[in-house]
Amino acid sequence: MADPCIGDSVSVEGGIPTSDKIERLRSLRFTTTPVKVRAIFNIYLTVIGVRRPFASQEHVPLCYPEVVLCVEIYHNKTSSKKTQEFLVLGSQILSDLRDNIYCLTDKLMQTAGQHDPSGYFLIENTFCNDLRDPSATDYSLPIFDWLKNSKNEATEKWEVITSGELKKMQKELLGHADASNFPNFKSVYMHKTRFSDLQFRLGAGYLYCHQGNCKHTIVVRDMRLVHPEDAQNGADYPLLTFQIQPRYRKCEVCKIFQATKMTVDDKWAEKNPCYFCIKCYFLLHYKEDGSLLYPHSVFDYYHE
Ligand SMILES: [Zn+2]
Ligand SMILES: [Zn+2]
Repeated sequence: MADPCIGDSVSVEGGIPTSDKIERLRSLRFTTTPVKVRAIFNIYLTVIGVRRPFASQEHVPLCYPEVVLCVEIYHNKTSSKKTQEFLVLGSQILSDLRDNIYCLTDKLMQTAGQHDPSGYFLIENTFCNDLRDPSATDYSLPIFDWLKNSKNEATEKWEVITSGELKKMQKELLGHADASNFPNFKSVYMHKTRFSDLQFRLGAGYLYCHQGNCKHTIVVRDMRLVHPEDAQNGADYPLLTFQIQPRYRKCEVCKIFQATKMTVDDKWAEKNPCYFCIKCYFLLHYKEDGSLLYPHSVFDYYHE
């Protein structure tokens, strides 16, 4: 995915590690294993842009009995691809999880100056809206309006949805299949709702929506009590236990360096879109005096 700009873009982020990061990576060779793993994780998360590092310096004691949930986040486009997995505490507020979800769309919208702090989780029939930022909008409002103004259409759609497996399951569980049992949707504030306040089913797919229409399936995979082998510092949660490694493209020209620019409908490029490292891009699109060789559309490229 990429960020749009036309012809004259010179600011490039991500991709090639800075000398500072290389130095930090080198120094890890001389540390002990647990610190090493943690430090590498921290650097890696910083590079890909996950907002909160792996572990915190502060100590927040856990209140027993405490529940731990294993929450999976899936890719917005490849819905079967798990991108992250967290351990979250039952007493934790939902916005803590949101702040740790990494999605490239956030970065692209930020670079384009169109970042929208709004977002929601839809868990069972509850919209958990993130309205912490004064400029955030309540994404659930138009949905509630539609449910109110188009009740027949909504009921019809619900009946279609529940006419398959769900209806069969309902019949098995309740002894009858009540298709008119339209859910009674409600909305709450994300930052005032704890996981333990919600009703959810393990393994069911719920929704995380942000940046207008970027949607991810989220799944609560497991739920259990905290045990002594878990991290005992409450500040370490949500604890990232899995992070998919992003796929980076190489430059189509030198085939050596990581691509950081992508051109579209570029008349001299071999492919469309075509990916370039920063050196090859400037070499092929700008004259020595820095003036543009020919007009073209170019985007910053981060990763797949
Ligand atoms: Zn997203
Ligand atoms: Zn190159």
